[in-house]
Amino acid sequence: MTEIMYNPVSRLASISARLIIGFAVLLGLLFAVAAVPLQRLEDLTARTRDIVDRQAQLVILSQRANQHAQAAAIGLLNLMQTAERDARVPQYAAMDAELAAADMAVAGLEKAMLSPAVRTDIERIADLRQRYGDLFQQTVELIEIEGTAAARRHFEDRTQKVLNTLLFETQALESQLQQAMQAELGELRQITTNARRLVILLATGALVAGIAMAWAIARSIVVPVRKAVAVAERIAGGDYKTAVPPGRGDEIGALLGSLTTMRDSIASREEKISRLAYVDLLTGLPNRTRFLEILGLLPAGSTGAVVMLDINRFAPINNALGHGVGDRLLREFAARLCQVQGEGCTLARLWGDQFVLLLQDVDRTTAALQAERILAALRAPMMVDGQRLDIDASLGIAMYPQAGEDSAALLRRAELAMTRAKRRHEGHAFSNDDESEAAHEELSLIGEMREALARGDFLVHYQPKLHLAQKRIASAEALLRWRHPEKGMIPPGNFIPFAEQTGFIREVTPWVLARVIADAAQWRRDGIAVIASANLSALDLLNRDLVSTVRRLLDESALPPDRLCLEITESALMDDPELALKHLNELAAIGVKLSIDDYGSGQASLAYVKTLPVHELKIDRIFVDGVDTDSKNAAIVRSTILLCRELGLSVVAEGAETPQELAWLGENGCDLVQGYVVARPMPLDDFLARVRAQALPVTG
Ligand code: C2E
Ligand code: MG
Ligand code: MG
Repeated sequence: MTEIMYNPVSRLASISARLIIGFAVLLGLLFAVAAVPLQRLEDLTARTRDIVDRQAQLVILSQRANQHAQAAAIGLLNLMQTAERDARVPQYAAMDAELAAADMAVAGLEKAMLSPAVRTDIERIADLRQRYGDLFQQTVELIEIEGTAAARRHFEDRTQKVLNTLLFETQALESQLQQAMQAELGELRQITTNARRLVILLATGALVAGIAMAWAIARSIVVPVRKAVAVAERIAGGDYKTAVPPGRGDEIGALLGSLTTMRDSIASREEKISRLAYVDLLTGLPNRTRFLEILGLLPAGSTGAVVMLDINRFAPINNALGHGVGDRLLREFAARLCQVQGEGCTLARLWGDQFVLLLQDVDRTTAALQAERILAALRAPMMVDGQRLDIDASLGIAMYPQAGEDSAALLRRAELAMTRAKRRHEGHAFSNDDESEAAHEELSLIGEMREALARGDFLVHYQPKLHLAQKRIASAEALLRWRHPEKGMIPPGNFIPFAEQTGFIREVTPWVLARVIADAAQWRRDGIAVIASANLSALDLLNRDLVSTVRRLLDESALPPDRLCLEITESALMDDPELALKHLNELAAIGVKLSIDDYGSGQASLAYVKTLPVHELKIDRIFVDGVDTDSKNAAIVRSTILLCRELGLSVVAEGAETPQELAWLGENGCDLVQGYVVARPMPLDDFLARVRAQALPVTG
């Protein structure tokens, strides 16, 4: 990336300075082009005036000298023909005037600034004029003394010759001066031509210099501006690695400098935005969006595992120790995961305490080993804010491509497996192979649930709970069924988890409760003394409308509250024990019976159960299974029965399938049995027929 520093004090002038200099030079050239001809014109005018004034004057003077000399000669000739002296006297004055005028002209010529050659000629003319004047005087004297004949002879022999020479010389001078004048005029013409050439040259030079300068200035501005535009366009197109050309110390340099700053800040902002979009800010790990993107980018035919994990009982830790500790715990958890994750493994945080790992190119065995390795690392005590936390996690593994080829399905499968692992208290669980076949179908079920509920495709079956001492069906558990138009009867295990995850259970439970309470009210009216049980999910226990819904339904159907039993699982209490307990207390206060379902599959102890306002405890199927032969199960069930008796709770054994188990339970003081050995869950009518067939005592 090229860094550009804008240096305002630079060798290179700024654009404004360049423009000012350019225009100043152009104006200077224009001024020169205009001034030179003006100067030349003035010179020419002066020289022309000089020629006109001086040269013409000289020509006139030489002409005058010639004319006056001639006029004096004519006067002399006239004199020589005038016999009377009295007639000659007036002519002398005129002749003297002519001679004086000729002298003046010659004197004028002498005074003029002339070339040495001309000056020699004028001196000769002056000399001739002197000699002519002398001879003229002698001729005049001869006229007066010896008469005109002698004077004529003197004139013809001597005076006329000198006069002719004088006239010739003055004429020669005149033409010489005229030639000189012509020469000077020619010189002037040459100067004019030269001046014109100079003006054309200067104008052309100015034009060329102007064009060159304009081109250079325009180029020095346009080229970098074009480069800047190209760079700006590349930046606008998202190319933040584009090199900004080095700027010069002018305004465009500053612009390029700003472009660099702009490019870098856009790049850093975009990086920040994509960080926000793709990174979980708490842990710095990729987030759900990024993980789904990574999954989506896996090459076709690749194999591996998606492992979803979350911290067991994170909500109570978070609630008890505060969200600050919760956040630090999550960070520590993420750091541990990063440490144990192997090469080619991607880790992301989905939300809350839910993380996901992508293990590429692993088979089922390797994935299981890796899962156990991770669990072992996570189980080591963590110190958060000086507190020792022993945490555990549940992992769900979905192998791909078997568990589904699209990313969302894989995550869903892994989550289902994780929920199963959690429920069964197994460290990890694989997405079932038989489940995977139906993975896509199940996903599509989620979308159909709402419609099914509205259409009346849901129904409840009842499974009797046999009272062993009274040998009668004392109560019945309502179990939800979905009669799908194409897929037939769907068991709750296939859709209740989705309903819980999507929150749709909030709509399902009120429907079940309404159904069960209405049925129980009818039984009561029919004199059937059977308590109806309904199941509640964790989300129901946190629903603030739960208690009021139950109360309203009971009121509407006029069912005594103790004819209704609500079953809750221990894990349902874990998310927000305080709120759940508050609702349970309110339900107990109404008079509704409460039952702990699947007891033993969770982590709660009997001591904990004691604090709950429950009336019944249902021992999980896994302990009842083979209770007559399995001594460990027998010990657990026996001690639970004893403790329940101490606590005043009635005990239900779930999932008894054999008469031997049933007999064992009877012998060991279990109150009620719910299992296939008694009856499978059945439609309402079958259930009622079954109850009536017992010819049981009728109560009010
Ligand atoms: P659960 O509340 O523990 O219900 C007892 C489950 O055990 C029922 O399964 C029942 O059919 C089964 N079962 C009873 N006796 C035996 C036996 O002898 N052997 C075996 N192997 N199983 C036996 P189902 O009907 O499939 O229901 C599964 C779970 O779905 C229920 O467990 C309950 O947690 C949930 N569920 C059912 N209906 C609802 C409902 O309306 N609301 C909610 N929230 N959950 C429900
Ligand atoms: Mg139940
Ligand atoms: Mg149960």
